[in-house]
Parts: sequence; structure tokens; C-alpha cells
Amino acid sequence: MSDDRPLIVVANRLPVSRGPAGWQASAGGLVTALRPVMSEVGGAWIGWDDDADEVPRRVDGLGCDLHAVKLTPTQVQGYYHGFSNRTLWPLFHDLIEQPVIDRGWWTSYQEANRAFAEAVAAVIKQVPGQPVLWVQDYHLLLLPQMLRELAPDAPIGFFLHIPFPPPELVARLPWRDHLMSGLLGADSVGFHTSRFRDNFVRSVQRVFNGVTALGDVLVLPSGRQVRAVAHPISIDVDEFSALATSEGTERELAALREQFAGRKVFLGVDRLDYTKGIRHRLQSIELLLERNADLRREVAFVQVAVPSRDDVKEYRELRTEVETEVGRINGRFTEPGHDVPVHYLYRAISREKLAAYYRLADVMCVTPLKDGMNLVAKEFVTVQAAADEAGVLLLSEFCGTSVEFGDDAVRCNPFDVEGLSYLMESTLTLDEDDRRARIRRLAEVVREADVYRWVSDELDAIRRGAERP
Ligand code: UDP
Repeated sequence: MSDDRPLIVVANRLPVSRGPAGWQASAGGLVTALRPVMSEVGGAWIGWDDDADEVPRRVDGLGCDLHAVKLTPTQVQGYYHGFSNRTLWPLFHDLIEQPVIDRGWWTSYQEANRAFAEAVAAVIKQVPGQPVLWVQDYHLLLLPQMLRELAPDAPIGFFLHIPFPPPELVARLPWRDHLMSGLLGADSVGFHTSRFRDNFVRSVQRVFNGVTALGDVLVLPSGRQVRAVAHPISIDVDEFSALATSEGTERELAALREQFAGRKVFLGVDRLDYTKGIRHRLQSIELLLERNADLRREVAFVQVAVPSRDDVKEYRELRTEVETEVGRINGRFTEPGHDVPVHYLYRAISREKLAAYYRLADVMCVTPLKDGMNLVAKEFVTVQAAADEAGVLLLSEFCGTSVEFGDDAVRCNPFDVEGLSYLMESTLTLDEDDRRARIRRLAEVVREADVYRWVSDELDAIRRGAERP
């Protein structure tokens, strides 16, 4: 199959946002990585417009047409806030919160997936030739099969950006067979890790009889073949390396170094999500400071908590719990005339400030309870290595990134709050040359599998999967 077919990406959101200067391309690895491909082969991005009035067809720096999917308020409530974020999200993240099973949400989810399928059908008519269709993430699990019915010969790919859980958890969904059939409409179904891929294969075999797995190919009873592949998503390494020492970053860093002079800085950067382990991390900090009175003035813990899904009850509750914990730690351990131990920023920060924090950090705490990948960890080591820093990455064994990073990160079990507090303490005594060497090796791992490699591996798998025998 030739490689110059147009590419149609379908995702919950369009990769644009409206800023003070009008519509602009969103920052983010996927958008950056697709730009060269899209500019070369041409293409379109189809996504929900989040009720914006008029999304323009073209926005500078994207290289593709934008097509907005309109959803009714009831559909948004049921499909997005409900089924995607309160059923699939907690279930696929190992039940850290209980998933809600709601038949009304399921109806909206099906309707919304249908609305996306209709949008794709309309766009296919406008592009020349047979496009490659690439569906993104858990909001659109039914879409590959709907597209297969609309365009039987189209190459169709799907990538899941979150974990895929073991079959015992998938089995709890009353609609598991519909969801699995939805995914099997694709030629290639991609996951971050081989464990998530294997979970998917086992789930398919549990739900349907007569499916054979041969290497990464699933052979369905009809004889049709579907590839199940593992491709870890990543970042644009050159972009973050340049950002590490940019003028803006250096300026921000100088201010931070002055602010935190003489103290070791622990850093957390996460969306405020219950999967990220922020509560557990704070409890570990509390234990650390409880045990070590001397560290109360010598250590600062900075937590950037990016607001997320605050229209969902569990997220509002999490915010209250996190802010109560921050208040308790600062109340217990701040000494008169001295700075607070925990700095809590409930906001998104600029790229330069983010890079400056990455450089400042002595210990980067990436301790999710469950995470499909975790790009913050990859960004941290890339920025640190580019500026020849010697920080430590404390990394949860329950995120996709830890599969690639091995023992150069200090691996932790974030559920073990006390154990984590001891690990935090131990990172303060690691040898500087050892720390710098580890950061370099980790950055090399990221460079070898950057986001461009991810896009090209995914597109290759879709094309190979679509080669009919
Ligand atoms: N990030 C951001 N604004 C901020 C802080 C972080 O956009 O104020 C970015 C960060 O650079 C990273 C992404 O948010 O690229 C978080 O990705 P990750 O895979 O770590 O977690 P996710 O939020 O996708 O679950």
C-alpha cells in the first residue's frame, strides 16, 4: 500500500483552543508529531467542538482541516462526563474509584460514537482517494466497527491512550461484547505496553469464542485479522531539549533558584486526577517531615496540580482532600519566620515555567497509582539531560513509562505510603555523578523512542494490518 494516502484523525477533542489572539493549535506531542505527516499527505482532524460557536476549517501550524462534531447537552453529559469519565476511566484505571454503570450514559455513548461516524463519512467524501482512518482513545471504542461498516476497505487504526485492564475488570461492563466488537473493527489496535495489549487479547478471547492469537495478530472466526500492537507514546525530544535552556526558561529558573536557595526541591506535576497518587504522595511527605525535624526547613515540596474535570463529583472531592492535606502539612510543619514546606499551585503553568521547575527539581515525584504512560517523566529527564542537571526520578511501577525506564529511575510502589517516604529520604543521599549518569541514560531511552517514532510505528501497523491477504 502506498504511504501517501490522506490521514483522517478522529479524537474526542479538536487540537485547537481559543486564546486572546483567536484560534490556535493546542500544545502537545500528538499534534506536533502529526504536523509533518499531515502537511505531507494532507488530512483532516475530526473532533467534538466543546460547544464552541464556529471552529475555523484551518488554523495556522496544524497542516490539516478541522471538522467539528456537534453533540447535544444530554449526549455530552452521558457520553463524555458520564460513560467516558465515570465508567470507562475508573474501570480502565483498576477501580481506584468505583465505576458507575448507567444505561442512559451508555445510550448517549452509542449516539455520540454514531455522530462521529457520520462526521467521518461526510469527510471521506471530500478527500481524494482512500484515506487512512485513525481513531484515538477510550471515548470512541465503538467507532472502528462503525467505520468498518461505512468504509469496508479503509485502513482503520485505533490507539488507546489509557491502560487496558485485565479481562476480569472488563467483564464487569454489561456492554463488554459491544465494546470489544467496536475495537475489532480496526485493522490495528495500539496500546502503550505489551501488558495492556495482552490484557486486550485475553479480553477478546474471553468475550468471543474461536479467536486465535498468532504473535501480534488476532484471527477472528470470520477469518478477518486484527493486529494488536504495543507502541509507547512519547514526546518531541528536540522541542523539550531546546526549551530546557531557552531564554525564558533560564529567566524563570533564576527566580526559582533564588526563591528556593539552600533547599532541596521535591516536585510533582499532574492533572488533579485520582489516578495520579497525589494524596498518597502528600501523606508520604507528611511522614518524611514528621520523622525528620531537620528537613522541615531544608526541603520544599512543589505540587503543580492542573485543574481537570471539575464538573465531576470525584474530582471536586479529590481537590478538597488534597487541599486539606496540604493545609495540614503546612499547619503542622511551617516554622515561624520560615517558608511553608508545601507549595501548592492549582493552575496550569507556562512551558517555560514548567521546564524551569523540571530543572530546579532535585527529586521529581511521578507516583501515579495507575497511568497509561506518563509524559511528565519523559519531559523531566529530557529537560534535565539537555541542561546537564543531576536530579532524581522517583517513578511509580504502575505507569507505562516505568516499563521503558527500568532501574535508572528509583522505582516505587505509591500505595506503600510509608515505604515511599523512606524512598524519598534515600534519594537525598544519592551520589551526584550517579544521578547525572542515570538522567543521561533515561533521556537516551526517550530520544530513541520519541513521538515521531510512535506516529510512524502506529501508521505502519495500520497499513500492514490493512494489507488483505
Ligand atoms: N502540562 C501542561 N500544563 C501544565 C503542566 C503540565 O500542559 O501546567 C502537560 C505536561 O507537559 C504533559 C501533560 O500535561 O505533557 C501531562 O501528560 P501526562 O502523560 O503526564 O498525563 P495526563 O495528563 O495525560 O494523564
